[in-house]
Amino acid sequence: MRFTTIVFDLDHTLLDSDGSEQLAFAETLHSIGVEEPEQHLKTYQRINVALWKRVEQGELSPNDVKVMRFTQLLERLDIEEDPELLGDRYLTGLGNNGELYPQARELLDALDGHRLGLVTNGIGSVQRRRLERLDLDRYFSGVAISGEVGVAKPDPQIFSHLKFADWAPEQTVIIGDSLTSDIAAGHNASIATCWYNPSRTAHIGPTIPTVEVNQLSEVLGALSTL
Ligand SMILES: [Mg+2]
Repeated sequence: MRFTTIVFDLDHTLLDSDGSEQLAFAETLHSIGVEEPEQHLKTYQRINVALWKRVEQGELSPNDVKVMRFTQLLERLDIEEDPELLGDRYLTGLGNNGELYPQARELLDALDGHRLGLVTNGIGSVQRRRLERLDLDRYFSGVAISGEVGVAKPDPQIFSHLKFADWAPEQTVIIGDSLTSDIAAGHNASIATCWYNPSRTAHIGPTIPTVEVNQLSEVLGALSTL
């Protein structure tokens, strides 16, 4: 393999983030006595997606979303509780819940001897807690979390926050599930890109990944062909 440096995304690439979100949501609503919280998950997800659209349009900050999604949910459910408290509980739950995908650790172990990095768009406290709990720190020589460094994928500046000495873009590849953040960031930094596409979604948009895989077990084989 020609790559000496391999950079990973975390959410939906190594980590089952959907599972993490469902468990955190259930914990949060249970804490205020809501039974069968899963009945309200879809409503919450709709609120959340709409708010993040407004972040992309520059109307809200990511910080606003943490509380507003629970303000709106509580209104919808006609429950009087402190949305700020729920927002905090939910973030704690995100850090405390969620497992790696079955083949993720095997892949990280197989890459022993390479320099590994992690670039993730997310909240510092949540991602740090996950890395610690899942014993992932030992794999990564560099970690850049958008909430800590103040730049987010697809901005290629995020790679500089890995602080890798003598970093050579032509010997680096990024592996991630998102065309608009991971693959676009790689493209913007002139590094090779490996699109993890487990649901075999049709490719859309202007950014073409260097290679596509549908399972994590295919990554090593795919990288050795580049
Ligand atoms: Mg992702």
